[in-house]
Amino acid sequence: MATEKHAPSSTSGNDYDAIIVGAGFAGMYMLHRLRKQGLHVRVYEAGDGVGGTWYWNRYPGARCDVESLEYQYGFSDDLQRGWTWTERYAAQPEILRYQNYVADKLDLKKDIRFNTRVTSADYDTPSGLWQIETDKGDRAQARFFIMATGCLSAARVPDIAGLEDFKGKWYHTGSWPHDGVDFTGRRVAVIGTGSSGIQSIPIIAEQADHVTVFQRTANFTLPAGNRPLSEEEIAARRTTLLEDRKHARTTAGGIIAFEYNEALSGEMMPEDVQREMETRWTGGGFAFLGSYGDMMATTEANDIAADFARAKMKARVKEPEIADTLMPNDHPVGTKRLCLDTGYLETFNEPHVDLVNVRELPIERIAEKGVLAGGKEYEADAIVFATGFDAMTGAILAVDITGRDGLRLRDKWEAGPRTYLGLGSAGFPNLFFITGPGSPSVLSNMIVSIEQHVDWITDCISRLTSGNIGTIEATPEAEDEWVAHVNEVAAETLYPQANSWYMGANVPGKPRLFMPYPGGVGVYGEKLDEVAAADYEGFRLGA
Ligand code: NAP
Repeated sequence: MATEKHAPSSTSGNDYDAIIVGAGFAGMYMLHRLRKQGLHVRVYEAGDGVGGTWYWNRYPGARCDVESLEYQYGFSDDLQRGWTWTERYAAQPEILRYQNYVADKLDLKKDIRFNTRVTSADYDTPSGLWQIETDKGDRAQARFFIMATGCLSAARVPDIAGLEDFKGKWYHTGSWPHDGVDFTGRRVAVIGTGSSGIQSIPIIAEQADHVTVFQRTANFTLPAGNRPLSEEEIAARRTTLLEDRKHARTTAGGIIAFEYNEALSGEMMPEDVQREMETRWTGGGFAFLGSYGDMMATTEANDIAADFARAKMKARVKEPEIADTLMPNDHPVGTKRLCLDTGYLETFNEPHVDLVNVRELPIERIAEKGVLAGGKEYEADAIVFATGFDAMTGAILAVDITGRDGLRLRDKWEAGPRTYLGLGSAGFPNLFFITGPGSPSVLSNMIVSIEQHVDWITDCISRLTSGNIGTIEATPEAEDEWVAHVNEVAAETLYPQANSWYMGANVPGKPRLFMPYPGGVGVYGEKLDEVAAADYEGFRLGA
């Protein structure tokens, strides 16, 4: 749908080669690479520091679910040698310190405008420039416009009536106060039991007088197995990190901590399947999902793992009725992000922690003194919304992006995101998404996928610049084929069976379709290489 375009603005010196939105892992590395090419680059960042998701998600217990030795940049030996992780799974403050270490070491901050949100971006066809505006009134223009806004950065407070009546304080895990929250002596209601709820509830329960957890969907969770890292394992990884990262890019999930067992469940002896699951479960982390090859392919195969997981989970909860409520039974294991926890289920053995099953007792409204559900008021001094994000598209569409001929991205994506390779969208020349919808992104180690995209975009921009080529833009045909391909691959898996944020199902009215590319980082990387080698096949290069 065409809409009126803004008049080209005077940018009074704010002319750049590239403008990047977001200073998380993606924006920081993109800035570094483009600057190295001699480009004049500006990053806009809404927060007052670098970090992206790790800047905002400061809730108690926030911790990465990819092992820290793999959840770091892999492009610089110097960087990795100058940093020492302390735990198997790094906590949010440590990751944020690491990001600041990188930003300082590479001197990135001088090119980042903090506390500034990009509100609109318009492609001006005659000049071939993207013209952006910010909430601080900045106007700037650049040939390349790069969205490094992250997949889980538009925090979502559900539309529950009465929040304005609540006399206590309320928080969202995804935009937590920077000076922390002390729940000592308070009664806390927590709504949501995804990864953020599952990580924060045990810590909140350590402090609070009383905690009421409102659960809509029980999730599969397994003990993370977090522990301090030994000097030996840190030293060993230092010598191999860069090589390991090359290997990680050939794997399905961008992780080398474990391998997927390719044998199908039916090809293994049942006791071998059980042994494999036991070893992987006990070891902690996502390895469990790789116990056998068809776990995500058929319901029958998935049921084996789901039953195993439920039995393990049940054994952690004393009260049978509470244990039953905590058992996930409406989606195959792995079709929602598996949660890694530290003491989550045991928290419900505590006398001051209550569980409310929102499926049976729906939340009716927030009242002055707490949460009203199933006709009962649960009094609380604070409410924590661990209710997730408008994932993958929320932060992109929060910027009003208008491409060629007045085409608005919000209109184009009304029925769901449409991209070629998750990198670009037809009608939007020289606009790149880092880990956009249609790429492996959230199904992988994000930093591996970020580096894969940033390297590809850097090479592409270098090719354009050196070849005197003005624009690159996905063709509608290539985009249609890619969107169809992503859907086909997803349809071969069990993923679409869950009402997950991967499907957009957590946001009322959001189109339901599987957004990330489930074909794996390695396979996807081969496709990226082929496209680049064929002079950006599927993209149109313009004068
Ligand atoms: P989430 O997985 O979307 O979970 C949100 C929770 O809130 C769900 O239990 C959801 O129930 C519930 N909810 C939403 N609206 C509700 C309503 N109106 N009433 C009652 N319940 C409601 O969000 P998240 O926990 O923030 O995690 C999002 C993703 O971020 C994760 O899957 C993961 O990829 C990433 N993350 C990673 C880590 C880590 O690295 N360890 C930590 C946190 C987050 P339904 O399921 O029924 O919708």
